[in-house]
Formats: sequence, structure tokens, C-alpha cells
Amino acid sequence: MSSEIVKSNKIAEKLRKQGFDSMQNGEIYEAILKFNESLCNAESDTKIMRTIYANRAETYFKLKIYDKCLNNIQLARDQNCLPDKMKSLDDLQEKCLEEFNEDQTTNENPWDFFKLSYPANKRLPFVADCLEVKCDNKYGRHVITNKPLKVGDILAIEEPFFKIVKSDPEDNEYPMANIYVYCAYCLNDNLMDLIPCTECLTTMFCSTRCQQEANKSFHKYECNYLEFLNNTGNWRMPLRNFFHSLSICDDSIEELEKLMIESDSESPTVYNYAMDDQRDPDTVKNHLKCMIGLARRVVVTVRNFSEFFTHHPLLSSAWCTHQEFIKKFLKRMMQIEILNFHGIKGRSLDRNNPYRSSVGDGGYAFCSLLNHSCCSNVMRIVVENRMVVIVERPIKKGEQIFDCYIGDSFYFKTKNSRHMELMDYQFICDCEACTYDFPELLTGALQACDKTLLHYAQQAYNELRNPKKKLTPMEARELALKYSKIMQRCYRENNYPCREIVLLELCTVKCFLMASKSNISFP
Ligand SMILES: [Zn+2]
Ligand SMILES: [Zn+2]
Ligand SMILES: [Zn+2]
Repeated sequence: MSSEIVKSNKIAEKLRKQGFDSMQNGEIYEAILKFNESLCNAESDTKIMRTIYANRAETYFKLKIYDKCLNNIQLARDQNCLPDKMKSLDDLQEKCLEEFNEDQTTNENPWDFFKLSYPANKRLPFVADCLEVKCDNKYGRHVITNKPLKVGDILAIEEPFFKIVKSDPEDNEYPMANIYVYCAYCLNDNLMDLIPCTECLTTMFCSTRCQQEANKSFHKYECNYLEFLNNTGNWRMPLRNFFHSLSICDDSIEELEKLMIESDSESPTVYNYAMDDQRDPDTVKNHLKCMIGLARRVVVTVRNFSEFFTHHPLLSSAWCTHQEFIKKFLKRMMQIEILNFHGIKGRSLDRNNPYRSSVGDGGYAFCSLLNHSCCSNVMRIVVENRMVVIVERPIKKGEQIFDCYIGDSFYFKTKNSRHMELMDYQFICDCEACTYDFPELLTGALQACDKTLLHYAQQAYNELRNPKKKLTPMEARELALKYSKIMQRCYRENNYPCREIVLLELCTVKCFLMASKSNISFP
């Protein structure tokens, strides 16, 4: 189960050479990927480690990313080995500093644009204060607004409580690539400027801070067992959540059990607690209680993990005394994952696969309170790893906020296929689209009300689908705001859905999406 993990300079050197060849061929993404894999395999504090960092520094220099270049020169110097060939590093550093001081480009910061449109809730700083949680027989817990909301308003910016970088089974060539692209703790790509775990071969971090946090948390349980864990399929995330939860409870299985009992009796939501200090251990425990209490009506059978737990030095005694509880907890984690978790899409740095941007999965306590509608009034997009909730159609004071749980809304899917996809959630959707059988966009049955606006919307939609040149995030921001304004002005509740408004809505969503992704991809 825990295979003896051996870092090997021989393997590292082979990978480094492959990376170096890629760099010479101008295949930068492949080069850094190999350098990172090589770093994971290299023995600590060795000459080869220094060479890899030096190679990576050169690569960033070629990319004109000078701060990363300098950082890698420093990493190379930090390796405690004989100071030979430092001359080349000195030269590179000198060249880099010259360019760095000349460099006028400023990095765009997505958070200049993605900001809450209303004052933040004082107890829940990631949610606008106009939102409230309500409860009734029909909807259970749900979220409403106490102010009228405009298209484009940003209502929540939430970090995932549970999160994981996932290997991509659809990538036949390199299914494990994500491990060498995204930080295992915060999920940022950091332009692939990552450092390896000192022990295992398949974990990287964007900073020593993330490394320390992960080692205090889930990674101390996972480090020696990744070969096994990476092959647990759907159970990878429930297991991760268990390790994370256990560490939140100071590694006490009794404490975790107590917390689950409290969660089950109180059924709290994030609105029950002050969540303004996420570094406070009690806040984190309360947050965990909210996660444990998320919707879970789905049947799950737990896989047998007794061999893993019995042989794990940090977990065997907990397994001995609390086997039934651990199974119950894992089952709960699987249930809440199926019904509540969201895929996290990042930017793809790989020019050959610009759309292969799936990073992993995340669980969000606030966003999970939103109910489903096939004609949702908000869109959700992931910026870095945070879920951003944006108003898609005007919402009146007192109305409920609806999310769409299935990829596309009624525009592209028939009622039947939507209901098939919603089966796991065990409710029959009776949203407006389902009740009044809204026609799909592509059938032609969707009528237009305003011919001039239709012409405009159709043109905008076509241009976004087949752009003459790729929009920069800055251009996308401007368009997102422009289409939001037109939507807000032209939307008529009685006419919804009409063709031109649906097209404009799609344009708005697309522009917000493009505004969230920096358009860096490596040559
Ligand atoms: Zn990180
Ligand atoms: Zn490790
Ligand atoms: Zn519906």
C-alpha cells in the first residue's frame, strides 16, 4: 500500500534532459512540465536540483517573466552544494535585473474587476449584505435578495473549503500533468513556478507557506500513500476531505465525531456564524460543520478501505476505535460531493490544449445554499479558485437567487435531458422553463420581440463565437459591462425568454468568463 518512495537523481536527470530539449525546441510548456516532474524526483539539496532551477530560470527569462526568473535563480542558489558554475547564474541574474528594471508591463489583477457590488456582509465578508437565507417547506434553505439586483452585479466571492487538484483521465498523453501545474494546497498555477514536496513524487506547492499549511493539514496523511490514493477514483476527494477535517480537529477522531453530531443536530449554514476571521480555529470548525450539513439525499455505498487504514501509522488507532464513524464520515463526504461540489476550471497554460483547463474540485458552503433553476438568474464562474456569483437577469427585491446545477440551461438542453441530469438531486424541477416548456435556443421556436435588438444581439453572439482576434481580458471586461447594461435596459419579464435577450445573456456570460482568465499561455 505505502510503496517505498525513492527519489532518484538518475530519473530526475533523464527528465531534466527531456525538459532541456523541449526548451531548445521552443516548447516552453512541455519544458517546464518536465523540469517540475524532474524536481519532484530529484534528491534534496543536490547539484541536479540546482541545475533544474537554473534551467527553469533560463526558461522564465526567455518568456520575459523576470520576477520568476529571479526567484528561480535564488532557488538554485539555495541548494547547499558546491558552488561550481555559479558564474552562469550570476550572468543570468545580471541580464535579468537589467530587463526587470526596464520592464513596463503591469500584470492585470482579476480582483481589480471582480469585486462585490454591494457592501460585504459583516459576518460573512465573502457575501454581499443584500442576500439573506430563508427557509420554507417548498425550497428548504434558500437565498433571497432584500434589494433589487442588476445584471452584472457581483454577489459573492467564495473560497472553497474543501479542494483538490485532480489528474485528468481524459488526457491520454499526460493524465498527471495537473500535479506539476497547480499548487496542491491553494490550486493556483503560479505560472508553474512550483516547489516539490521533499518526500513524495507527486505533490508541488506554489510557496513554502502553502507547503507548510498542507503538511500541517491533509498532506501528512497523504504523503506516503499517493500512489494508492491517486487510484481511488471517486473516493479521492472524500478521503482528502476526511484528512483535512481530521487535522482541523487537531487530529482527534473523537473531536471530529463530536463535530458531526453537532452539525447533524443544529444543521447550521454559514449564516449561523461569524466567518470574518478564517484563521481562527473555531471559525474553521464552524465552517466544517456547515460543510458536513450540506444536502445529501443520495444513496452511496462506501468502498472498503480497511487495509489502508489498518496499516497507516497515523490512522490505525482511530480506525481501531472508530471504524464505523470513519465509514459514515466518508459516506457523508461522498454524498455532499455528488450534490454540492463544483469543478474548478483554471486557465490552461498549454497552447495545444487551451480548453483543457480542469484543475480539480471544490466545495463551497455558501454557494451550495443556492437552489436550482433551469433558467437561473445568476451565473457562477471560478476566478483563481474562488467562486464568483454574478447576476445574469434582473432580480427583484425579495426574489430567490437561483443557480443552474447542470452545465447548460434550457437554451441548449431539452426538458427530458435536463431532468435526467438532475436525477441525483432527487427533485423534479418545476422552474419556469420546465413548467412553461420554454423552447430551446437552437430550435428556432424561440421568438424574437424586437427585430433591431435581435440583429444587434445575433451579431454580437456570432462575433464572440468566431472572433477575428482573441479578446484580451481587459476588452472582455468592457464588453461584459456593456452587455450587462443593455440586458438590464432591455429585459422585460413578460417577454422572457425571447431570442434577443437570450443571445445577449449568453454574450454577457461569455464575456465575464473571458474576463476571468488571463490570456497567458506558454509557447
Ligand atoms: Zn499555493
Ligand atoms: Zn509529499
Ligand atoms: Zn427546470
